[in-house]
Amino acid sequence: MNVVDYLRISLLDRCNFRCQYCMPEGAELDYILRQELLTNKELVALLQEVFIPVGFKKFRLTGGEPLLRPGVVNLVRDIASLNETEDLAITTNGFLLADMAQALYDAGLRRINISLDSLDPQTFDKIIGNRGRSRWEQTWKGILAAHRVGFDPLKLNVVIIPGVNDAEVEDLAALSIDRNWHVRFIEFMPIGNGELFQDRTWIPSEELRGRIRSKWGLMESNVRGNGPADVFQIPDAKGTLGFISQMSECFCDRCNRMRLSADGWLRPCLLNETGQLDLKTALRNGVDFAILRDRVRQLLQLKPEINFKQRDNGSKTGIYTRTMSQIGG
Ligand code: SAM
Ligand code: SF4
Repeated sequence: MNVVDYLRISLLDRCNFRCQYCMPEGAELDYILRQELLTNKELVALLQEVFIPVGFKKFRLTGGEPLLRPGVVNLVRDIASLNETEDLAITTNGFLLADMAQALYDAGLRRINISLDSLDPQTFDKIIGNRGRSRWEQTWKGILAAHRVGFDPLKLNVVIIPGVNDAEVEDLAALSIDRNWHVRFIEFMPIGNGELFQDRTWIPSEELRGRIRSKWGLMESNVRGNGPADVFQIPDAKGTLGFISQMSECFCDRCNRMRLSADGWLRPCLLNETGQLDLKTALRNGVDFAILRDRVRQLLQLKPEINFKQRDNGSKTGIYTRTMSQIGG
């Protein structure tokens, strides 16, 4: 089995967007109560006393929308200053970033992923479920602020949905040409909005690569990240193009991560509905850290080597109703 040293930490399950594929408007989600959220202090204690001793060194803050979490800058500072933290990153929708980029950078954050599914404000608003004043410009300002402040790598996450934003594949890929930005196409997964998935389905990465290849040419890149992306480059581009193909390829044998939900449940796999560990309750009940370390080690042994296709007997119709915002995407 792969070395598992990467923890994705959800800071909260709420969000200021309502992305069609994640937590669409009208979806009835049971939000975590405030008192059930791990506090910053509890989170840092779990990292120091449990995850780091067990071998975790790389951390990503996500959600929901992590920048909505009160005290996120202090939390970044605390985690970045742990001696054993090799890598700290955040995944955000970027809407609050214009005002927060500098503070996050000053607190020690260097790596950032910002979701951007469209360059067209109308399409963007449709995807994120916004009916008021367009939110595209504020999000774009956030991306530019992150660039100006010096985040490196700066990655842009794109989910392509047929009939919604698939006409923009080349325009989004072109963002990697003039700036050192890394555009990552994530195949749409049957997690969250099952109706949209069944209606629209997903586009294999190879098809997207074919379109990009025929426009500019495409070569494999030697830039590697912590994750499962296959990385390519448009010739002479400053940035790269990553393809995360969890639907068309199985990369479970390369999986190096676990997920901690905002209320302290540790999950060995995105698809796991069993085999979880309630660290928050154990911590609040005063369970010894040594026991928690053993439980995490046991859970590591359970880390499955399955993917969507195997799990659904190749039918690709299985839908996982917990949303990415709840799991900590
Ligand atoms: N709110 C932040 C954001 O959007 O970047 C962080 C959390 S969000 C759940 C993390 C990533 O999961 C986003 O890039 C989003 O596009 C992706 N995501 C959510 N639901 C997905 C789905 N059903 N299939 C593929 N990607 C999904
Ligand atoms: Fe919010 Fe991110 Fe989910 Fe969109 S993908 S609804 S921004 S958590």
